[in-house]
Amino acid sequence: MTNAAEVKPVLKDFFARPVEEQQDFLQQTWCNECMEMDLGMKNPQEFEAGDRTWIEGECVKCGTKIITELVFEDDEE
Ligand SMILES: [Zn+2]
Repeated sequence: MTNAAEVKPVLKDFFARPVEEQQDFLQQTWCNECMEMDLGMKNPQEFEAGDRTWIEGECVKCGTKIITELVFEDDEE
């Protein structure tokens, strides 16, 4: 039996994004080790699973793995 609701994350090309977007995502971070925001991220990898998209990378300060989930807001008209 397979579970159809289970979606495997797919690796996306983070560097295909516009440079300004890349800069924003790499700067707007939260590190659970440092307990500080916007320390920065290095070695970013973008993943997508279903309608979720997130970026995994390492904290610039301590090297801990950090995740930034991308939230797309629906424009209600
Ligand atoms: Zn850190």
